[in-house]
Amino acid sequence: MVNKRISQADELLKACALDAFVFFHLPNIRYLSGFSGTDGALVVVRGEAGFLTDSRYTTQARQQVAADTIREYRVKVDGVLEFLAEKGAVRVGFEAETLSFATASELSAKGSAYEWVPVVREIKSLRCLKDESEIDALERAAALNAECFEEILAEIRPGARERDVALALEFALKRRGAEEKAFDFIVASGVRGALPHGVASSKIIAAGELVTIDLGCRLNGYHSDETVTLAVGDISPRLRELHDVVLEAHDRAIDRVRPGAALRDIDAAARQFISDRGFGDYFGHGTGHGLGLEVHEFPAVSTRSEEEAREGMVFTIEPGIYIPDVGGVRIEDTVLVTAGGCRRLTRIPKGFRTLPV
Ligand code: ZN
Ligand code: ZN
Repeated sequence: MVNKRISQADELLKACALDAFVFFHLPNIRYLSGFSGTDGALVVVRGEAGFLTDSRYTTQARQQVAADTIREYRVKVDGVLEFLAEKGAVRVGFEAETLSFATASELSAKGSAYEWVPVVREIKSLRCLKDESEIDALERAAALNAECFEEILAEIRPGARERDVALALEFALKRRGAEEKAFDFIVASGVRGALPHGVASSKIIAAGELVTIDLGCRLNGYHSDETVTLAVGDISPRLRELHDVVLEAHDRAIDRVRPGAALRDIDAAARQFISDRGFGDYFGHGTGHGLGLEVHEFPAVSTRSEEEAREGMVFTIEPGIYIPDVGGVRIEDTVLVTAGGCRRLTRIPKGFRTLPV
C-alpha cells in the first residue's frame, strides 16, 4: 500500500514538472512512508524515496518506513540537501502551506543551487481519497467514539460539570485504546451552547438545557469527529426548534453528498435551509471539513469550496445555530463518499434525544 503511495508522489512530480519533492509535514510523511514518529523528512526523487531522520528514530524507521533509503542526519536541512545533491535534482517542490518560514529560508540559503517550487493545490489533494485501509481506520475510530459516548451518557445530568463530562469521555476513549483525543472536547451547555468552540468549562449542567458535545479520538493515526446535541430534561419549544432546524439542515446536506456534487452546493443545502427558517445570521462557519490523518484537512465544505465530491473522500457535515444569550445546537457526522452517494462513518444517533433528570 505504502509503495503505491510513493508512486502517487511520483505522479505529483510529473504533474508539477519537478525532479524532486521534499516532505516535512508529518501527516504527509506518514501517509507516504508509514513513519509515525514526530521528526523526519521524506525526499522523493524520480521514483526513489529517501527517508531521513535523527538518531532517536532510526530504529523505528527501519521497522516502519517503506522507502528505498533510510538515513540518519544531524541537521535536518543538511541531510535533505545532501540527498538531493547525490540524486542530481534541480527543480525541487516543497509544501508551501505547512513548511515553516525558518526551514524554507534555511533551505534556500544553504541550497541556493536549487530551484525551489512552492506547491499548494497538488499537495492538498494528496491524501483526500481514502483507500480501504484508511476507511477501516476511520471507522474504528468512529466506533470507539460511539462506545465511549454510550458508556458515559449517564454522567450528563443536572449537577454535572461540563469538564467532568469531557474528562469521563477522554478517560473512556483512552481506556478503550484511543491514542489521543482528537481535540479538546466541546461540552457546551445552556447559554454556552452559543459558543461554537465552547471547550468544556466548570459550568454546571442544569435541567432544561441543551448540551452540545463535540468529541473525537485518534486511533492508528486516524481521527474521528462528531457532535451531538442533547436535551437535559424538558426544554423550551424555542430550543427544540433550533434542534429540529439544525437536524434537518444536516440531513439535507448529507442527502446531497454523491460523486460529482459541488462541495459548495452541499454547504448550500444546509445553509439555505437554516437561512429560510430565519437563523441565517447564526450559522457562521463552514458546513464541514476533510478528516483523516489530520482532524481538519482538505477538502473544506463551505461557501468558498471549489471542488466536487469524489468517491473515497471523507468529510464532516456539521451545521449549527448559535444564538448569544440563548444557546446553540450543532449536529455533526463524518461521511464517506461512495459510488452511489455516501455512508455515515460516525455512529452515535443524531435524532432528538432527551436525557432523564
Ligand atoms: Zn467536531
Ligand atoms: Zn468537525
